[in-house]
Formats: sequence, structure tokens, C-alpha cells
Amino acid sequence: MKLGNSASLTRVYNRSVVLDALRRNESLSRIELARLSGLTPQAIRVIVADLLEEGLVQQLGRRKGLRGQPQIEITINPGGGYALGFHIVDNWCHYLATNLAGKVIVEGGTIELPQDPSALKPHLYRIDREAAQAAGKSPRVGVGIAVSNLMAAGGLIEPHPENRAYTEEIRRHFGSDTWIENDANAAAMAETMFGRSKSAADFLYLFVGDGVGGAIVRGGELQRGHRGNAGEFGHVVVDPAGPTCHCGNRGCLYTYLSTAGLKPRSKQSADRDKATRSWVANAIPALRSAVVSLENAFDPERLIVGGTAPVELLKALVDGLDPLGPSIRSDAPERVEVSELGSTSALLGAVALPLLSLMSPSAAKLTKQSLTPAN
Ligand SMILES: [Zn+2]
Repeated sequence: MKLGNSASLTRVYNRSVVLDALRRNESLSRIELARLSGLTPQAIRVIVADLLEEGLVQQLGRRKGLRGQPQIEITINPGGGYALGFHIVDNWCHYLATNLAGKVIVEGGTIELPQDPSALKPHLYRIDREAAQAAGKSPRVGVGIAVSNLMAAGGLIEPHPENRAYTEEIRRHFGSDTWIENDANAAAMAETMFGRSKSAADFLYLFVGDGVGGAIVRGGELQRGHRGNAGEFGHVVVDPAGPTCHCGNRGCLYTYLSTAGLKPRSKQSADRDKATRSWVANAIPALRSAVVSLENAFDPERLIVGGTAPVELLKALVDGLDPLGPSIRSDAPERVEVSELGSTSALLGAVALPLLSLMSPSAAKLTKQSLTPAN
């Protein structure tokens, strides 16, 4: 978010700076908040007082064992609000709710997408009720939707027509505080909210599932490119003589990394193991080549590999990358890592969207009102 001219925009921005510092550091004193945020102690006092009144933060006791006057610790109030997330992929809609601290309050559930999108309504009422009950008196801060096949055209980011009716139904139910991202972008945002690299600002995310996508995070913000489609790593060509891809090119990373071909066709576990081994063996050289190109193009702090693919599969893939060829990142201690968030990373990302838009100053570019009004 750019600093607005109006006082209220500045206020919103400063609040998110304070909340951001708190979510990255379990707890902080007002003095530490001032030092970390660059805001004056007076400004911090006013902002913290406001946040306390709204219940978004809480005061812990005074920290002991330090010299001088012990400082009162401020922390995010987990019960200060909750967020709901949906992930629409294939014929399924997964959902999950967490509190402000990111703790799950409604365990994930899955709905089979009904033929008629309006038949989603009773499910949404039920999920809404379930989450509100679990949250007690906490208000809902927003709803996030991660969807595969999100596309950008003419500067407008919108779901693929086959998913659009469902995302519209969700937005109609929950109102304007609804954010939407493609699943790779959402999964990357999950890393900044829930992942080990909470404070990592510059990384690439490779999303591996039936579809293969990616995200570019720079300074904590998603980089979208000129028309909003940046990060389509699945269609980076790794072998010009490789198999034909549905995009029309040959040898796209997608043709090696898509897990669509791994669906259990055989009940024999020996056959499945063989299929998995051959998928990994085929995918490793393709990913090696892509990693080097992506590193040379973006100089990221690291490349995080995640998505809906089973974690063991991703681990086997990443373990097999060694030795990676030279790039401008050759001297980095760890160039590629597997996300620790597991195969629900996109769903966690959906929840992260409203949380980050409240608690991160760099999340202002998350897509909120991108959907055109429902017809
Ligand atoms: Zn392709």
C-alpha cells in the first residue's frame, strides 16, 4: 500500500505495520514496536491503544529479567478475529477457518461442487455458522478464495469460467470482504503467513499438483507482471525437443511435473511405486534445468516447492536435485526447499489472504475487488 494522502489511509497503513511486526515476533514492547516500525513512541501508543480497544492485540504481563523498568508485552490477540478460506480445485471445494494467530478453529472440510452453483448456498450457510460458532464472539475479518485456473485478461484477474459461478456464489454469501488469488499465489502467501520463511521477502514458489504454477514474491509482495499472469513456471521450456504441452510449446516444465498421470490407476502398490519412481526420475532433470533458469532470472532468496502433490513426492524430487548446475545463486547455502505446509498449502493461503491484508503492509496488492459484480 502506498502512503495515502488522507490521514485515514496513513492510519490504516501504520496499523498494518504494527500488526505485521507483532505477527512476525510473538510479542513486543511498545519501545520495540517503535524501533522496528520506525514510528514515533507517541504514534505507537495511539495505535496500540486503538488496537487494544478493537481487541486485535492484547497485553501480556511485564517482561521480567531485564534491566530497567520492565516493559509490557503486546501480542496479537488470537481471538480478535477469524478468517475463512476456500480452495476450489477440480470438482472440489475445500474449506478451513483460523483465528488471527493462524490457529485452525474449523478443521478443513470438503464439498463436492454441485452441478448447479446455487446449490452451494446451504453449504455456505452451514460453514458460515460453524465458523461463527467456533469463533465465539470474534468477528470475521474476511474470506479468501484460492482457485486453480485463475486468469488475468486486460488487467482484470478472474476465475476461469468453469469456476467463476462458484466463486461468485461465495462472494455473494460473504460480501465484499472476499479476496481471491490463483492457488499458486495463495500458497506463496501461506508461506509468508504460516511458513518457516514468515519473514522471507524474496522467494519464488513452485506449485506442483495436477497443474504446475508458481509465484514471485518480492519485498513480501506478489509480483504479477504486466497483465497479471507472471509466475507461470509450469510453461517454462526445459527441453525444446520434449513432449508437446497443451499450451502449444514443447518440453514445458508442466509436462514433467504434473502429477495428473500419477492418479492411482493400479491397485497394486508395486505398480504405483514404479510409477512414482519413474515420475521422480523424469521430473528431476527438468526441474534442475528450470531452477537454474529461474535463479538466473530472479535471484530469489530461495525457491520453495509446494502445492497439492504429496510431500513425500516433493521431498524425493528436491532431494534428487543435488547437484544443481551453476547459477548466480550457486553459493547460496540452500537454494531449493520443500514447503513444510503440506498439500493444503493453497487452502492455508486462502485463509492467509484476509489475515495478511489486515496484518501486512505489503499485502495491499492482494486481489480483493477483482471480480466484476455478479450478474
Ligand atoms: Zn506449456
